[in-house]
Amino acid sequence: MAQLYDRVAVIGLGLIAGSLFHAMKRADLAGEVVGYARSAETRKVARDIGLCDRIASSAVEAVKDADLVILCVPVGAMGAVAAEIAPGLKHGALVSDVGSTKGAVIDAVAPHLPEGVDFIPAHPLAGTEQSGPTSGFAELFDNRWCLLTPLEGTDADVLSRYKTLWEQMGSNVDEMDPAHHDLVLAVTSHTPHLIAYTMVGVADDLGRVTDSEVVKYSAAGFRDFTRIAASDPTMWRDVFLSNKDATLEILGRFTEELFALQRAIRTGDGEHLHDYFTRTRAIRRGIIEAGQDTDAPNFGRNAK
Ligand code: NAP
Repeated sequence: MAQLYDRVAVIGLGLIAGSLFHAMKRADLAGEVVGYARSAETRKVARDIGLCDRIASSAVEAVKDADLVILCVPVGAMGAVAAEIAPGLKHGALVSDVGSTKGAVIDAVAPHLPEGVDFIPAHPLAGTEQSGPTSGFAELFDNRWCLLTPLEGTDADVLSRYKTLWEQMGSNVDEMDPAHHDLVLAVTSHTPHLIAYTMVGVADDLGRVTDSEVVKYSAAGFRDFTRIAASDPTMWRDVFLSNKDATLEILGRFTEELFALQRAIRTGDGEHLHDYFTRTRAIRRGIIEAGQDTDAPNFGRNAK
């Protein structure tokens, strides 16, 4: 396939930007990929490891003559970064982002973009608990969803080309309304992360995480929580602050269910517990059937 963009700029050089670079290069989708991150340290690491074809020394320099600019910074920084790059954007450029929430990013970014520049917000449902310039890899988006939340009136050809980029990077692509995106993600990602943070915090409060017994005997349940709870604190702070309503809505429902399970345990209602766990087991089966996870025991990891 011919290259889709002559010049692409990625702003922020962490897990997602790094993976974008490698995935674009794997399929030869872009002529030159230029990168920029705010700290000299990250820019140096990026240059040393060959992350991006060129590292610019300012955000404005990075977006100069770029056909596509992808903002890969925490959600809370999107607005300021959009304001910073706005004067350097080429007429006809496409701006996108990879932020985990969409309503707040659109509110923060769209007002800064000049006439003649398109904006297509995006969210790849792909990640790991790693962050920083060395953490990206080409396969991150393979067989994962990327949700686009285009604004009304977006040019069909511009949208189609951008959609093709994500598909060629390995993703399945869907379009969604931003508010709906934020509610769906509150259920599938944001609230589960909050629960994991809480569970690890509770264990820590009990003073047992530092106690070798918790580390030594940590079973799959707690271990999986700790993996999620190791995710980047800045990114996740911003996710909750920018998806407040949907997260609080889902947390309210979660708390009600938790009380119902608590009551079932207290009253010895085994039938309630068994029915509930049967229903949830079917959801896991559905995820595996949809090809979104492995059916190997313990995620295919070594059992120990
Ligand atoms: P990351 O590895 O932590 O990298 C973040 C990058 O943003 C770094 O280059 C950092 O620059 C820069 N940055 C941080 N704060 C900034 C600020 N206030 N102003 C300007 N630049 C700033 O993050 P990531 O995991 O790639 O996440 C990037 C975006 O993708 C976030 O919006 C996140 O919500 C979204 N996302 C993440 C995942 C995931 O699982 N990680 C999945 C899907 C979407 P320095 O290195 O110079 O500090």
